[in-house]
Amino acid sequence: MEAAALEILKNVFGYDAFRGNQAEIVSCVAEGGDALVLMPTGGGKSLCYQVPALLRPGTGVVVSPLIALMKDQVDALLQLGVRAAVLNSSLSTREAREVERRLEAGELDLIYVAPERLLTDRFLELLDRIQVALFAIDEAHCVSQWGHDFRPEYLGLSLLPERYPQVPRIALTATADHTTRREIAARLHLGRARHFVSSFDRPNIRYEVVDKNNARAQLLEFIRREHPGEAGIVYCLSRKSVEQTAEWLEAQGLRALPYHAGLSPELRAQHQERFLREEGLIMVATVAFGMGIDKPDVRFVAHLELPKSLEGYYQETGRAGRDGLPSDAWMAYGLADVVSIRRMLASSSADEKIKRLENRKLEALLAFCETPRCRRQVLLEYFGETLAEPCGNCDTCLNPVETWDGTVAAQKALSAVYRTGQRFGAGHLIDVLQGRETERVRSFRHHTLSTFGVGQDLSDRQWRSVLRQLTALGYLGTDAAGHGSLLLTSRAAAVLRGEERVELRREAERPKRAAAVRAR
Ligand code: ADP
Ligand code: ZN
Repeated sequence: MEAAALEILKNVFGYDAFRGNQAEIVSCVAEGGDALVLMPTGGGKSLCYQVPALLRPGTGVVVSPLIALMKDQVDALLQLGVRAAVLNSSLSTREAREVERRLEAGELDLIYVAPERLLTDRFLELLDRIQVALFAIDEAHCVSQWGHDFRPEYLGLSLLPERYPQVPRIALTATADHTTRREIAARLHLGRARHFVSSFDRPNIRYEVVDKNNARAQLLEFIRREHPGEAGIVYCLSRKSVEQTAEWLEAQGLRALPYHAGLSPELRAQHQERFLREEGLIMVATVAFGMGIDKPDVRFVAHLELPKSLEGYYQETGRAGRDGLPSDAWMAYGLADVVSIRRMLASSSADEKIKRLENRKLEALLAFCETPRCRRQVLLEYFGETLAEPCGNCDTCLNPVETWDGTVAAQKALSAVYRTGQRFGAGHLIDVLQGRETERVRSFRHHTLSTFGVGQDLSDRQWRSVLRQLTALGYLGTDAAGHGSLLLTSRAAAVLRGEERVELRREAERPKRAAAVRAR
């Protein structure tokens, strides 16, 4: 089997050797076994089902959620002389009938179908009549209800093992956390599948999280310093901030295009096309952009707002540096981000179980942002992988973070929150701590509080950092109503009573970079 697989790899695909655990996966599936494959983007998942499909008699059936991606894959296969076709809603009825005819006549090595098409009676009856080499379920995390790409149609794929017990199945995804993995195995009835987990490390990506004070200016400075004239993606949360950021970058003399679901399909296609073809364009986008985009030389991915989860962060930053060359994952992160994400959680109407899960995911994301440790170690640990040594290629490795005993500062901040009635946001709290008699302070008589002016030893920026960290660490919460007020949580009491020490990271006043390390 192995010799035959290598033959195909060389003669059909023109490669000399399998990468990573491709060879093992190919043998497993070619011999009729089920497989669950977790491999990062760019790792080479396609060959894991394409080669066994060619090794086994019959047609390989590939389920994929992305019409554009199916077409690209099939075009590439046709170039190589593989008999492949797509069957999805982009075809006319006549074209679809022709594909079905060829499938039935045994003229196809591989067929790519959308899940909703696969699950029609018509298609299943067709499959009953032919020999199926294997089922490949691409982007298998789409079956996960907790994930960001949930596709209800994917749930129906669980009927495949009942109806076709003899046909091996291979599910593939670039999403790696344990919860999702278990969920994929359970929902797709892959109880007997071997799990193949590749390393998720992307060593050429440098991770950096900066303390946000003026996100756009910081972004501009980052691009000008590190990636002038190079291609990159800037992720924003809302359509409005996408538009404004793209316009702003343009006004600063950079070439940037917006991309979000509110633009017309034509304009979106046009911007995507330009991003792929032209050099050095910056795509400013919501998460609507990126899945299935295969541009090897994206030199940076920037986040102006927090992504939804660490999985999301990993996926989005993973679009940088597919060519293996040095690339940056840069994120600006600040108090407002923590407040808004905590608020979303507080106002979530999901049931308790989902809430707990959302909460865990959020804590993991915040822990990554706040960590004084190697970011790559923290990120990979989240995916169940251990990196023995700090990576030497992230901000915390390159500029080690000092921590300080923030207990007294925390007590001052928490009591300012308490004494002002847990009804105010960071700006007002800092005015109180700094002893500024603003109009607002006076109107609430906050200049008479015992905490008024007790915080003059720290700068406004340092106080913002303290409040941000206290919120990220769970000593402060936010109101569900969305006013941005900070509230004490049950954890705050121990700090106020002096029973708990608070260790905080010291923000560099001006983030420095060792020029020598930076030259690469
Ligand atoms: P994924 O689906 O995991 O993102 P792909 O299957 O698209 O990754 O593969 C990524 C790139 O790596 C493709 O250009 C592919 O041709 C290349 N590739 C995959 N396996 C090998 C291999 N064994 N040798 C050389 N190139 C490979
Ligand atoms: Zn590191």
